[in-house]
Amino acid sequence: MVVTCEEVWREVSNYLEGEVDPTLRAAMEEHFRGCKRCTAVLDGTRNVIQLYGDERMFEVPLGFSHRLHRRLEENIVPARRTFLGWMVAAAAAVLVAGGFEVARSSVFSHPELRTEHAESSSGVPPDLMVVVATDGKTFHIPGCPFIHDKARLRTIAAREAMQEGYAPCVRCMRKYLNA
Ligand SMILES: [Zn+2]
Ligand SMILES: [Zn+2]
Repeated sequence: MVVTCEEVWREVSNYLEGEVDPTLRAAMEEHFRGCKRCTAVLDGTRNVIQLYGDERMFEVPLGFSHRLHRRLEENIVPARRTFLGWMVAAAAAVLVAGGFEVARSSVFSHPELRTEHAESSSGVPPDLMVVVATDGKTFHIPGCPFIHDKARLRTIAAREAMQEGYAPCVRCMRKYLNA
């Protein structure tokens, strides 16, 4: 018997609760050995079940959104199976979309990120005049050989560059960054 990833996702919570028949169980075990994606779903689902069992599930995995949080609270009454099935579907969708890392970074990509950039480059004197390329992500000391797109440069104060979300060039700004 061969099972597909979709079948594994549908049955994974039953599998963890020991409620699949021996044939399916063996087929799924075989599948997990060869499929990293489903192994990740298995681990994720096991975590969810543990959280659920501990009744600490609202310290939700993966930094889920407030909206999801509300849905979880609404779903606490209906059958556990429905909830788990839903979680597995969500986990699978995330995996299909390119892995947990992607989900995590999109969940956590707050607007504050730019500020963090600025803080991390605080060794750069704020009044230093630097150049930025319009399409670039870094700012440079004028004349830095690593400036790309030399056609569209602006010269601004480092403070402004940081406020606009540019990060210091690691080559020409090295002496400030190591300070
Ligand atoms: Zn699979
Ligand atoms: Zn540079």
